[in-house]
Amino acid sequence: MQHADLFVIGAGSGGLAAAKRTASYGASVIIAEKDRVGGTCVIRGCVPKKMMVNAATFSDALADAAGYGFDVMNNGFNFSGFVQRRNAEVDRLNTLHISLLEKAGVRLVTGHAELVDAHTVRVGQNMYTANKILIATGGHPTKPDVPGTELGITSDELWSIDTLPARMAVVGAGYIGVEFAGIFAALGSKVDLIYRHDLPLRDFDREVAGQLVTEMAARGVTCHASQSPASLVRTNGGILLTLTNGMEIEADTVVFATGRAPNTANIGLNKVGIKTHPNGTIIVNDRLETNVPDIFAVGDMANAANLTPVAIRDGRIFADTHFGNKPRIPTYDTIATAIFSTPPIGTVGMSEEQARHAYHDDVQIYKARFRPMVHTFTGREEKVFMKLITRKSTQKVLGMHMIGRDAAEIIQGFALAVTHGMTKVQLDAALAIHPTSAEEFVTMA
Ligand code: FAD
Ligand code: NDP
Repeated sequence: MQHADLFVIGAGSGGLAAAKRTASYGASVIIAEKDRVGGTCVIRGCVPKKMMVNAATFSDALADAAGYGFDVMNNGFNFSGFVQRRNAEVDRLNTLHISLLEKAGVRLVTGHAELVDAHTVRVGQNMYTANKILIATGGHPTKPDVPGTELGITSDELWSIDTLPARMAVVGAGYIGVEFAGIFAALGSKVDLIYRHDLPLRDFDREVAGQLVTEMAARGVTCHASQSPASLVRTNGGILLTLTNGMEIEADTVVFATGRAPNTANIGLNKVGIKTHPNGTIIVNDRLETNVPDIFAVGDMANAANLTPVAIRDGRIFADTHFGNKPRIPTYDTIATAIFSTPPIGTVGMSEEQARHAYHDDVQIYKARFRPMVHTFTGREEKVFMKLITRKSTQKVLGMHMIGRDAAEIIQGFALAVTHGMTKVQLDAALAIHPTSAEEFVTMA
């Protein structure tokens, strides 16, 4: 039996951040990981995904360069060579995170961890006791229950593909669906995107989602709105996906991007009586405490926004509050986020729909839609769309949304001001940087 001040289950974004910060306060920390250190973001999420986005961006740049006078011969894309480099970088980051744990003085144990009681964890044959336990087990992708569902893959299996599929069908149009539809279309696959509402990205501003559909269609993605998968059948040529309207799509790869569920299997939640939400995530209070004393949860497992910066921040807040004597309360109301679709979307604060629901007529909307200067010579009709949402009576900026080149980078800057309660008057006081797309946000009238 070995003892620590803190035992962390799961070495992903949240668990790693909490473990290292706690160790920095002089506490003894053990962290258990059953798969690869780094978790979803580093191993099979944000990081390899962004590398795919970057590759897709080069495809655009090569096509656009001719308009600027470059004589570029594109001899094709070496997908398997790119996959090797991408995987090598993931391996490097995995090793780096292991060494960062060592440097921080955190002890890593490998294997599936399970709560035995409120202060005991079992990993394989070994038992560990701890003053406090943090659950940061993240989540896994889910598939819809339709005949032939086993023929489709999820984002977890996408990383094993080393031949570019000629035809890809993507089911679901949340973050992952639209991101991978854009990536594979840019890399050369013929992509069908299937979603069950009239527009993708259900919780995002409707006009922004509408603009994304226009841009995806212009880039060759076939969008099937208001459809769900009915069945999948293997054929000689690939997989036949039948939709609820009877339409048949033949694809080499079918990707289910239909959401994620928390990793709760066999981790002993029932044994110690930890309460969960109906979707399986753990209920925590604003000190990240579960209903069982000395057991805490952060990250995707705790039902906050499923984003890496949220998991990392909450991991650190947990450590500061419970080991560093610097209590902080996490807030979730102005989370900035980006969807790395093609083109990308950056957003912070309320959508127009959320603002009107909260403040009715007391809402003022400002918009700009324009062809960015870069496309003057490329021939692309792609538009940038920007939307600013304010509260009329207080002038407070409620939300900022952008779809177009560099949207993620631009919104990250404005997110700081929105988080700190910026008003439209303050926004107007900022001088524009010319010529940029971002300047539209400070010149909207
Ligand atoms: P995870 O990172 O999932 O880590 C949990 C860890 O716990 C895993 O390593 C798992 O193996 C381990 N584990 C589980 N059960 C046990 C057990 N019983 N014993 C031991 N170990 C266990 N977010 C962004 O902010 N930006 C992005 O661009 C982005 N892109 C994404 C792209 C994809 C394809 C996906 C799937 C996700 C993406 N995300 C992105 C979301 C982000 O990856 C997650 O929100 C984040 O990783 C959550 O961190 P976490 O620590 O809660 O869980
Ligand atoms: P999302 O919850 O974002 O989207 C799931 C999609 O699948 C929705 O379009 C949903 O439709 C649809 N869907 C769900 N069930 C079914 C079904 N049975 N049949 C048909 N369609 C279905 O999940 P993702 O898997 O895209 O991503 C998981 C999370 O990971 C995200 O919410 C995000 O927090 C995080 N992430 C963040 C990224 C980033 O920051 N850039 C990138 C990738 C992931 P409906 O809207 O009707 O429910």
